[in-house]
Amino acid sequence: MSTQNMVLNVADVSKSFGGLKALSDVDLQIEEGTVHAIIGPNGAGKSTLLNVCIGRITPDTGHVIFDGEVLDSHQPHEINQLGVSRVFQTPEIFADLSLLDNVMIPAFARRDGAFRFNAIQAVSGQADIREEAEAVLRDVGLHEQRHALAGSLSRGDKRRLEMGMCLIQRPKLLLLDEPTAGMSRHDTNMTIDLLKRLKQRGMTKVIIEHDMHVVFSLADRISVLAQGRIIAEGSPEEVRADPKVKEAYLGE
Ligand code: ADP
Ligand code: MG
Repeated sequence: MSTQNMVLNVADVSKSFGGLKALSDVDLQIEEGTVHAIIGPNGAGKSTLLNVCIGRITPDTGHVIFDGEVLDSHQPHEINQLGVSRVFQTPEIFADLSLLDNVMIPAFARRDGAFRFNAIQAVSGQADIREEAEAVLRDVGLHEQRHALAGSLSRGDKRRLEMGMCLIQRPKLLLLDEPTAGMSRHDTNMTIDLLKRLKQRGMTKVIIEHDMHVVFSLADRISVLAQGRIIAEGSPEEVRADPKVKEAYLGE
């Protein structure tokens, strides 16, 4: 792989929590336009790795380079402004606001460079942002419920709403931490369809996922993390054929 098409480069990253080494010398290169899955058992360090990439956790050693910029001292909101969005393991939405308002707030943040809760007053009169928000809600399959309160949504719908809140920021890189966790098969399939559409548009994604059906439907490359180390990396076919991975992580 040439390095010029790398959107994200995680170089030699280690992170300990007390005596526990959550990440050990992790290297990860994410190529532009690809879907890169990170799989591995619970406690492997997957969420910690994403948190390092978005600036929520500072690594003990190593660097994260996004779009050519070394992220060593960046705050999470600065990394977000550079074009990195993340869908969290637990949805972070504004329960008392409508779906439209939820999606318009980050649109305003993108434009204004600040994430202010009262942003909604400022954006509600702006037709272009409203139209964009409606389009995003159509994209994630929530347009019909656009006036409902976010808190009233099912768990699967909340996760799709959060994805909409990321998409309206037009990220260069979207990081998803178990986007289908707790979803019904129907919701999971809707999410796979949405992620496939985003892939067709060329959006680069890193997806942490337990569901192998989701991983093998979407991923161009897979990295396997176990006890804080990358133990295998390759195409889905290569990872599927790797005896170590087969035995320990795919249950085959
Ligand atoms: P995964 O997402 O792969 O399940 P995590 O990255 O959440 O794994 O956790 C990796 C390891 O680090 C686990 O043993 C977890 O208990 C530990 N860990 C994660 N975050 C913290 C924290 N803030 N403080 C202490 N230990 C943590
Ligand atoms: Mg996790």
